[in-house]
Formats: sequence, C-alpha cells, structure tokens
Amino acid sequence: MATETPQSDVSLTQGDITKAQVDTIVNAANSQLIGGGGVDGAIRRAGGDAIEQACAEIRKRDGGCPTGKAVITPGGNLQAQYVIHTVGPVWDDGNSGEPELLASCYRESLRLAADNGIQSIAFPSISTGIYGYPIEKAAVVALTAVNDFIKEGNIAPKKIQFVLFDEATHKHYMDALSTVFPKSETTH
Ligand code: ADP
Repeated sequence: MATETPQSDVSLTQGDITKAQVDTIVNAANSQLIGGGGVDGAIRRAGGDAIEQACAEIRKRDGGCPTGKAVITPGGNLQAQYVIHTVGPVWDDGNSGEPELLASCYRESLRLAADNGIQSIAFPSISTGIYGYPIEKAAVVALTAVNDFIKEGNIAPKKIQFVLFDEATHKHYMDALSTVFPKSETTH
C-alpha cells in the first residue's frame, strides 16, 4: 500500500557525481558496457578496475545491457559501494520511444537499487550529453519517472539525489522540479 512506502527525499545538486556521498551512483552507460567518455569515463576512472571487470563479466554473460535497462556492479575505489549502469536512449526525433526509454532507465535503476537494499542513490542527467537528449525535456521525464515510481508505492531508496554537472543542466532540473513535485516532497 502506498501509505506503507517510506517517503523518499528527492534533491538536486550541481557537481561531480563521482564524489557523491551515497550508497550507489548511477552511470549513463552504453549498451556494450564498454568505457566511454562523459560521466561514464569519469566513473570508471574514479572506480578503477573493479568496475571494468564486473562489466566484462556481464558482457560475457548477457552481451551487455539493452537501452532502458540497468545492471549493477561494485563501486571499486569510489565512495559509493555500487554503480548502477543504465543505458539511455540516443535522441533521434523524440518520436522513436525516447521518453519511454529514458523513464525506464530511472525506474529500472530505482528497482534494482531497492532490490539490493540500497538507501541512497545519485543520478546524473542520463542521455543529455553525447546522446543528445534535449535537457529541458529530459529533466521533466527524469523527475516525473522518479515521482511516479514513488507514488506507485514502490519501495525506493530513502535518499534520491540528482547530481548535475553544469549550471545549465542544474537550472533545467530546478525548473522541472517545481512543476513535477509538490513542494512538500522536495528539498533543494
Ligand atoms: P549520455 O551518453 O547518456 O548522453 P554523457 O556522459 O555524455 O551521457 O552525459 C550525461 C550527463 O552527464 C551530461 O549532462 C554531462 O555533462 C554529465 N556529466 C559528465 N561528467 C559528469 C560527472 N563527473 N558528474 C556528473 N555528471 C557528469
């Protein structure tokens, strides 16, 4: 029942996600789970070999991770114990299932976190870098997906943080936050 679900605290901050003080950080990965640039490169550099080894095992076992899905690995040298790797959609024209796939990234990551008993999680802005998803649209999809997941009564991490790298991205998420979330559920 929804009333039995612990309330999650959703917050936004600007910064480097590799430094986030959380149990788990989320990586905007590619479907081969092979090291890339952007946030993926930063997480792998900070986490070290343990992440690559775990990704290689998943590649061998499952062939990678489909778009919209998520897998979990250890965090290696990161402060975070785990990394959840999710694969965002590449932006095409917006009519190729991009919003559904992007929402699925957030849902699947939260589900995987809950399944692993994770209490705190940090998300980057998935798909809005190299994958080209317009930030103002992605911000609404991301925050709506998180809000829906909580409202549906799913078990969710108590602390859900978005760590946005640059000022423009942070601002778009701030704008989206005020429209998507009732004030009582949020802290900034
Ligand atoms: P995608 O391929 O899903 O678009 P990118 O890594 O290219 O992923 O970009 C996703 C977002 O992550 C962008 O907003 C980018 O600025 C941001 N980003 C890059 N490095 C970091 C970091 N260290 N911490 C948080 N966000 C980051």
